[in-house]
Amino acid sequence: MEKICVAVRLRPAVNEETPNGNGFHWKVENNRISLHKSRGTPISGVSFAFDHVFDQDCCNSQVYELLIKDIIRAAVEGFNGTAFAYGQTSSGKTFTMNGSENDPGIIHRAVKDIFTEIEMTTDREFLVRVSYMEIYNEDINDLFAVENQKLQIHESLERGVFVAGLREEIVNSADQVLNLIQLGEVNRHFGETNMNARSSRSHTIFRMVIESKGKETSSSNSSSVHDAIRVSVLNLVDLAGSERIAKTGAGGVRLKEGKHINKSLMVLGNVINKLIEGAKQRGHIPYRDSKLTRILQPALGGNAKTSIICTVAPEEVHSEETKGTLQFASRAKRITNCVQVNEILTDAALLKRQKLEIEELRLKLQGSRSEVLEQEILKLRNDMLKYELEREKLAMELEEERRSHKERDQCIREQQIKIDNLSNQSVVKGSLGEESNDSHSICQEDAFSTPCFKAVPNAFVFKRSQYSRQPDCSPLPDTCNDFADEDTWMKMNKGYVADLDALNMTPARKAQSFPSVEDFSSENCNQDMLNIRRQLQLVTEERDELKMKHMEQVMLNNQLTQEMSELHQEALLIQEVPRALLESVKNCKDVYKDILSVLENFVADERSATAEILSTTSEIGLRLFSTLEAHFSMSMDGHQPHVNNYSIQEHCNMLRKRLNSTISSLVLSDTPAIKDEHLEDFQYSSKRKGTLGEEIASWKREVDDEVKTIKQKYQNLESELVVNNKILEVSENKYHSLEREFRLLKAERDVLLERVSNSSQVLAQVTDQKEKFLQDFNAEVQRRTKLEEEIKQFSVAFASRQRSIMSFQSDFKSVLENLKAQNPVSVSKSLGS
Ligand code: ADP
Ligand code: MG
Repeated sequence: MEKICVAVRLRPAVNEETPNGNGFHWKVENNRISLHKSRGTPISGVSFAFDHVFDQDCCNSQVYELLIKDIIRAAVEGFNGTAFAYGQTSSGKTFTMNGSENDPGIIHRAVKDIFTEIEMTTDREFLVRVSYMEIYNEDINDLFAVENQKLQIHESLERGVFVAGLREEIVNSADQVLNLIQLGEVNRHFGETNMNARSSRSHTIFRMVIESKGKETSSSNSSSVHDAIRVSVLNLVDLAGSERIAKTGAGGVRLKEGKHINKSLMVLGNVINKLIEGAKQRGHIPYRDSKLTRILQPALGGNAKTSIICTVAPEEVHSEETKGTLQFASRAKRITNCVQVNEILTDAALLKRQKLEIEELRLKLQGSRSEVLEQEILKLRNDMLKYELEREKLAMELEEERRSHKERDQCIREQQIKIDNLSNQSVVKGSLGEESNDSHSICQEDAFSTPCFKAVPNAFVFKRSQYSRQPDCSPLPDTCNDFADEDTWMKMNKGYVADLDALNMTPARKAQSFPSVEDFSSENCNQDMLNIRRQLQLVTEERDELKMKHMEQVMLNNQLTQEMSELHQEALLIQEVPRALLESVKNCKDVYKDILSVLENFVADERSATAEILSTTSEIGLRLFSTLEAHFSMSMDGHQPHVNNYSIQEHCNMLRKRLNSTISSLVLSDTPAIKDEHLEDFQYSSKRKGTLGEEIASWKREVDDEVKTIKQKYQNLESELVVNNKILEVSENKYHSLEREFRLLKAERDVLLERVSNSSQVLAQVTDQKEKFLQDFNAEVQRRTKLEEEIKQFSVAFASRQRSIMSFQSDFKSVLENLKAQNPVSVSKSLGS
């Protein structure tokens, strides 16, 4: 276990102190930096000690010698190494890493030293590759090849964490590397801020991969020793400034850059904070939360010798930032790494692969023209590396595409499920109305063969902790931009750890993804389109059917309303019946009373007229009752009673007239006889009187019976009325329930209509999406064709290059043979050595 080496470098003051300052200043003494008041008294609590503290008078060579040289030596021996500069803008990070003409920086010195070390290591042979990248707004760009933008980080067992598609150059001299760096510098993102006219707005990582292998000697015959190849990675990092955004006067693009810078520096702080926790409490270390920490993962708590140079500005105005940087440095020095030599025995090492191919050539180069041939070999090596990188890039792209195809496939499946879901909904709607629709719904289920679908709630939302296991996505949400500003700066420098696990994350889904040609052919597309059209047609039919049903319901409802009003009328009429009957019976009673009183008068005085009067009276009675009977029967048959009422009245009047006329005629014709016979028949008359009284009594009884019958009938009518009322009530209830049902049906119809319109909209959207997918797919197919063409071209070029190597080899052989023939002794000597 090895601690990270942390140093602080105080840059020389740029201007004289501002007059309104308090006179605070930073003092460097014996690897300690502390803040002092104007009179020289130290301020308590603001004093920090580090492995090294460099004051304003120190130069880059001192920093390099004390901090970096060991790492460089170790890198040549096979240890990973990382050095990075951290600090606010204008504190001297770039000056430390790149230096100036008079005082070259760490990178320059490291490059020189690596080649010196390689030259001095005679028992091993080396292959050195370099690359140069920047992380700008969380995008990785290649500084050696501007066309390589937004590169992705990958991880494999053989290569560990690497940036796919990054251009690497095989180099064999320090000057070659420095020239390349100069070219790369041109492509860096700089911007002007209040604090620095040429402020680095990106993190830059200069990377050297050093592969080495023990040289074969005549004494060694065991191949296993020489098979082990050491591969070490050296990262030299110039971070962007960790200043407050407000202080740089940043706005617009600068502000966005600042937020990204602060975000990744905050993640760096979080990683460091996690790393300094005890190994047991550490738990998850959020390397994947930023590209910077992901790339530097082996250097932070992993297998690397690491040095951090924290640069600080001496000005009083920057004292807050300086304190923040010193706090960061204090935390970083507590990190321990586990460093070991990286030896690999597989074919992954480029050196091993290329070694076999060029070994023969190398043997032949010991002689004249060797320099020219070395150059030629280097060129060939670089070409081969380029081809390999290109091949790797294409393989990545293919892999990426395959993944996209899968996602695309998934997307289509989801769409299909949505459509099925819609179709199921439509079927359910249909079955609400009628059960007969069941057969239809089954038919639809069959057509799409996904009968049920349960949408997973929040299907696309994952917890950070789950998501962090996925390798290629940046798990910080974009909204992080909103808080990665002033607050972030404060938290970052106070050792705050953002609880990223508590955040709900949305994984970065690929915006464009395509299914494979096999999975997603145009035939499939057409099939899908047909399915959707069929679906649309079914839904339209469904809607029409529902409309029809609604119309039927409306008609039924109208009919029922009409029936109800008729029933209402009828009920009113029925209520009228007993009243009319009562009237009739009253009239009958009146007539009957009149007749009785007349009969009583006549029966008391006149004998001769009795029979006629009685017959007339019985006739009247009969007529009255037959009229009543007719009236009741008509009422019971449902005829209108007021008509009969009128006829009864007429009958009564008519009968009364008739009775009066009979009586008056009897009085006129029988008056003398009555007078003559009055005395003679007095006795007989009194006898007769007794008989008539009996007859009247019996007639009275009969009339009573009749009245009783009428009463009975009246009661019957009353009970009938009750029944009718009940019927009416039932009818009313039925009417109300029908009305309710109608209202429900109407509401249901409205809902269905709305659903149908929604379904139509969704279908239209789906159709649009399909079309868009189709377009994307076509574009992708074209792109693939182009890529395949390019692969073919590369293969041809590669083959021709191989052929040229072969011919070069044969040329060499012939030259060698010629040489042998010309000067056999010297050649054999050189071969022997
Ligand atoms: P940063 O990269 O931290 O933003 P720079 O390295 O660009 O800052 O430094 C800002 C300015 O300060 C530059 O002009 C640089 O030359 C100067 N500077 C920084 N450190 C030193 C130093 N130790 N000695 C001399 N000049 C320095
Ligand atoms: Mg800089």
